[in-house]
Amino acid sequence: MSLRTNKLFVISGPSGAGKGTLVARVRERRPDLGLTVSATTRAPRPGEVDGVNYHFLSDEEFTRRVETGDFLEWAQVFDHRYGTLVSEVEHRLEEGSLILEIDVQGALNVRERFPEAVLIFIEPPSLEVLEERLRNRGTESPESMELRLQTARHELACADRYDARIVNDDLETATRELLDTLDRYERI
Ligand code: ADP
Ligand code: 5GP
Repeated sequence: MSLRTNKLFVISGPSGAGKGTLVARVRERRPDLGLTVSATTRAPRPGEVDGVNYHFLSDEEFTRRVETGDFLEWAQVFDHRYGTLVSEVEHRLEEGSLILEIDVQGALNVRERFPEAVLIFIEPPSLEVLEERLRNRGTESPESMELRLQTARHELACADRYDARIVNDDLETATRELLDTLDRYERI
């Protein structure tokens, strides 16, 4: 019998790299993995549900919760604020490993508070592919696309600070790699 420990996994990478897609696929095969629901000040996209995809907060409510110390981490990402609530993390690591899908600034802040967190970077095969994926997803205005692509260049420069990197080219291969990476760290 091999020993496994519950881990706090932080998954980040540029918008459009495929984080959401990969995490959903991995959780189909590992339903025991917990996923935190972040808070954000951005508006819901069509189909997004409050409390499921995000906790959608007004600017005032977000500020209030920052002041009361409710966030483990938060960051300004693109035009809005996003953050992980302490209540989404505390006690849950006793039940199993947990995934935080957050931006690069947030990931590095989590590492400061939890040095034992495992940081995994999801990268696209190229910036051209990233642009194509964002375009096909059809969720961004031209301005938002431009901002996300500019930010991606800075984020890609931080990839070597992560514990593991996965290139999301072929979806099934990347899913397998992510599953193997989680498994490897849970056995440490
Ligand atoms: P993120 O969560 O990183 O912003 P998404 O998971 O929303 O990215 O993926 C962005 C778009 O790219 C989605 O439309 C998704 O279906 C598509 N996508 C994700 N992974 C792949 C892949 N390996 N090959 C082709 N398209 C992909
Ligand atoms: P989107 O608007 O596409 O849902 O998310 C935009 C960005 O915000 C993504 O890079 C996503 O990882 C990041 N993000 C989502 N939730 C959090 C969070 O709780 N904290 C931080 N720091 N970033 C987050």
